[in-house]
Amino acid sequence: MESAGTYDLLIIGGGINGAGIARDAAGRGLSVALCERADFAGATSSASSKLIHGGLRYLEHGELRMVRGALRERGVLLAIAPHISRELQFVLPHVRELRPAWMIRLGLLLYDHLGSSAGLPASHGVDLQGSCYGHALKPELRKGFLYCDAAVDDARLVILNLRSAVLHGATVLPRTRFVAARPAQRGWLARLQSADGRWSELRARVLVNAAGPWVDDVLAATSAAPERARARLVKGSHIVTQRLYDGGHAYLLQNEDRRIVFVIPFGANHTLIGTTDVPVDSPHAAASISPQEIEYLCRAASRYLRKPVAPQQVVWSYAGVRALADDGHENPSAITRDYTLGLDRVQGSVVLSVIGGKLTVYRTLAEAALAKLHAWLRPRRGNWTSSEPLPGGDLGAEGMVGLKARLTSRYAALPAPLLDALAERHGTLAGDVLGDADGEADLGIHFGGGLFQREVDYLIRREWAHSGEDVLWRRTKTGLEMPPAERSRVDDYVRERVARQAMNPAMERETAPSPASGEGR
Ligand SMILES: Cc1cc2nc3c(=O)[nH]c(=O)nc-3n(C[C@H](O)[C@H](O)[C@H](O)COP(=O)(O)OP(=O)(O)OC[C@H]3O[C@@H](n4cnc5c(N)ncnc54)[C@H](O)[C@@H]3O)c2cc1C
Repeated sequence: MESAGTYDLLIIGGGINGAGIARDAAGRGLSVALCERADFAGATSSASSKLIHGGLRYLEHGELRMVRGALRERGVLLAIAPHISRELQFVLPHVRELRPAWMIRLGLLLYDHLGSSAGLPASHGVDLQGSCYGHALKPELRKGFLYCDAAVDDARLVILNLRSAVLHGATVLPRTRFVAARPAQRGWLARLQSADGRWSELRARVLVNAAGPWVDDVLAATSAAPERARARLVKGSHIVTQRLYDGGHAYLLQNEDRRIVFVIPFGANHTLIGTTDVPVDSPHAAASISPQEIEYLCRAASRYLRKPVAPQQVVWSYAGVRALADDGHENPSAITRDYTLGLDRVQGSVVLSVIGGKLTVYRTLAEAALAKLHAWLRPRRGNWTSSEPLPGGDLGAEGMVGLKARLTSRYAALPAPLLDALAERHGTLAGDVLGDADGEADLGIHFGGGLFQREVDYLIRREWAHSGEDVLWRRTKTGLEMPPAERSRVDDYVRERVARQAMNPAMERETAPSPASGEGR
C-alpha cells in the first residue's frame, strides 16, 4: 500500500463544504488533503437551484438568524466571485388565497432589512398588467412584488474554491474514495482507494467528514458511534426547458401545498424550474427525477404561466439529495436548512461532521468548522476568505463590463458571445484559456455550443475534468446546447486525452493551477 503523506486535515468530500473548508484551512497555513470519490461537485453541489439567497420562505419558519447570516454572505459572494455570480430580480405574483398581501409585504420588508448590507435594490410592489414582468403570466395575475437576490454557478464555485485551496498548498485527490480510518498516534490513519484500484494510506491529525448525503456512512467507517440523530435525506429535483419568456428576471411561485417553486432563466436559451422536496432513504435516490416530480413542477409553473409547461418540453433534469440536520419536523420542507457541525472522538482522535447547510453559507460554515477544530489545529492565521477573490474574480473597478471590453480588444478576431461565455466561466483567467489565439482556427475543434478544444484541454489540465460529463454539465453547461452526437464526441475526446496523459504523465501535466491571471497576455 502506498503512503499518501501526513497532513493536519483530511477532508472527505469534494462538494462545496469540503472545498470551502479546504480553501480556508490551507490559507491559514495548515497542511490539507481532500479526497473526492467521484468528480468534484458531482453530487448535491451541482444539483442546487443555484441561488445565493437568504431564503424568503425560511422567514415563515422563524429562521431569522439563518436568513440574516445567509443574506450577509450573499454580499460577500457577489464580491469574491463576481464572474460566476449575478444579482437576480425575482417577481412574486400575488394570489390572495395563498398568502395575504400584508404578509408578503412585511416579509419582504424584513428581508430587505436583514440583507441591507449587500446594497441590492429594495423590494416593491409591481403592477403586472402591461409590465414586462407580467407578459409571461396569466392575465388574471394583476399584482405582484419585486425583490432582489442572487444566483451562482454552483459547480464552478466548488472548482474555484478547490483551485484556491491548491494555490494555498492543499493536495486534492479526485476520484479517490475514503474507505475507512482508525485512530493512530493522536490522529488518524486513513485508507483511500483511487478509481483505478490503487490503495493508499494517509495520516491526518483531524478528519473532516464533508460527505454530504453520505455523512453517516463516512462516520460509520471511522468507528465513531455518534449519539446525535442521523441526517435526514430529502431529494430535490429540477427540470430545464427551452426559454419560456424574455427578460432576465426569475419568478417565485407559491404553491397550494404552501411550498414555493422557482422559475429562473438558465443560460441564454433555457429556463430552470425547481424544486421538489421528497424524503428518501438513500443518497442514490438522486440518480434521477421521477415522472411525478416532473408532473408536479410542470403543474406548479402552469398555474401561473400564460403558456402551460408540459413534461414533453423538458430537455434536461437533475436531482440532488440534501442531508438535513434532523430537528424532528415531519414535513420535509419545514426541516431546518441550517447546519450542524458534529464533533466525535474515537480514542482521543477527532472527526468533525458537516450536516446540512446551504451553498450560500459555505464560507461561514468553513470558518465555524475551523473555529471548532482550533484546539487541535491552532492555525497561525484567523478568518481571511471574505476578502480574497476566488480565482478569476479579481475583475477590478469596472467589473464584468471592463473585463469583457479588455477581452474584446485583446481577442478582436473572436466572436463576442464566445468571449462573454468565457468571461462568465473563467473571469480574468479567460486569457489563460485562450492563450495566444488570434482567431477561431487557433482554438482547435469546435464541439458545438461554443465549446472549443482549447477550453476542454484547459479544463483537463487545470480543473481536473476527466470525462465528457465533467466538462459538459459541471465545468460548463454547454451540454445543453449540443445534440447527443456532439456530446459523445466531447466524451470520446476527453477520455482519449486523459488516457494519453496517463500513459505519459510528463505530458502537459500541471499539479497546481496557475496563480496568475492570464488576461490580456
Ligand atoms: C434540490 C436542492 C436545491 C438547493 N438549492 C440551493 C440553493 O439554491 N442555494 C443554496 O444556498 N443551497 C441550495 N441547496 C443546498 C446545497 O446544494 C447543499 O447544502 C450543498 O451543496 C451541500 O454540499 P456538501 O459539500 O455538503 O455535499 P455534496 O455536494 O453532496 O458533497 C459531498 C461529496 O462527498 C463525496 N463523498 C461521499 N462519500 C465519500 C467517500 N467515502 N470518499 C470520498 N468522497 C465521498 C460525494 O461524492 C460528494 O461529492 C440545495 C440543495 C438541493 C438538494
